[in-house]
Amino acid sequence: MEPFVRRQGKLPDEPGVLELAGWMADTPGLAAGFTTRLGGVSQGCFDSLNCALHVRDAEKDVIANRRRVALAAGIPFENWVCGEQVHGNRVHAVTEEDRGRGWFDRASAIQDADALVTDAEGVMLASFYADCVPLIFLDPVKRVVALAHAGWKGTVTRIGPETVHMMQKRYHSSIEHIRAAIGPSIGPCCYEVDNRVLEQVRAVWNEEEGKAERPVIQSSRPGHAWLDLRELNRQLLKQAGILPTNIECTNLCTGCETGMFFSHRKEGGATGRMMSFIGWKKG
Ligand SMILES: [Zn+2]
Repeated sequence: MEPFVRRQGKLPDEPGVLELAGWMADTPGLAAGFTTRLGGVSQGCFDSLNCALHVRDAEKDVIANRRRVALAAGIPFENWVCGEQVHGNRVHAVTEEDRGRGWFDRASAIQDADALVTDAEGVMLASFYADCVPLIFLDPVKRVVALAHAGWKGTVTRIGPETVHMMQKRYHSSIEHIRAAIGPSIGPCCYEVDNRVLEQVRAVWNEEEGKAERPVIQSSRPGHAWLDLRELNRQLLKQAGILPTNIECTNLCTGCETGMFFSHRKEGGATGRMMSFIGWKKG
């Protein structure tokens, strides 16, 4: 079953937000999900719910879009926080003092932070995507939440397992309590990569062991293959110890569904960004 469910809102011009409906039903007070490109104010290639400040969209439009999402999700606008994403694997432990960073301007964002983790209930974590894989984490027992931005570079530098380790080490999460959701991103149907990428995938992922699972690499033409980055992340999270039954994965491909999502690859790089988010409605 698709874990990301379109929110049926009550606002007259509801922004398009997909919610982790199962997690939210199981965990009172939780808000978690992923935005679409629908129901915002941005123009041109950012049409219309672009949530990122780093893509040359008008700043006032991005802030207006973020306000719409915050209002629809029922989260105070000043609670949100985001990092400057660099396709790295550094995990930043977010505290109450980080509230608002990166939210009103780009300069204040947490630098070099592709993964964010917190147990502070007054902050809402956010990160940005157009094809890269959003990883969303929840420990409902310790009430720890996390986001990780996993493009191919973040994936092969194990940003998913690094985030899980931070939850265990710093916040004492038990591995059997951690839930992970893998969100809308480019599917193997639309993501052909070359040997340069495949070599790095094979350096962190054992192709023989992976054969018992769903295929990650399927050859296309000489020197190239279709890569299932979502499945690769799922297998790496499973190897990190998360129970397979606690890992949920979307079927939504950003490359196939450019009416609903921004796609960096399908739109030639000039496009907006969706946003993943997780946190608590009341802090
Ligand atoms: Zn596709």
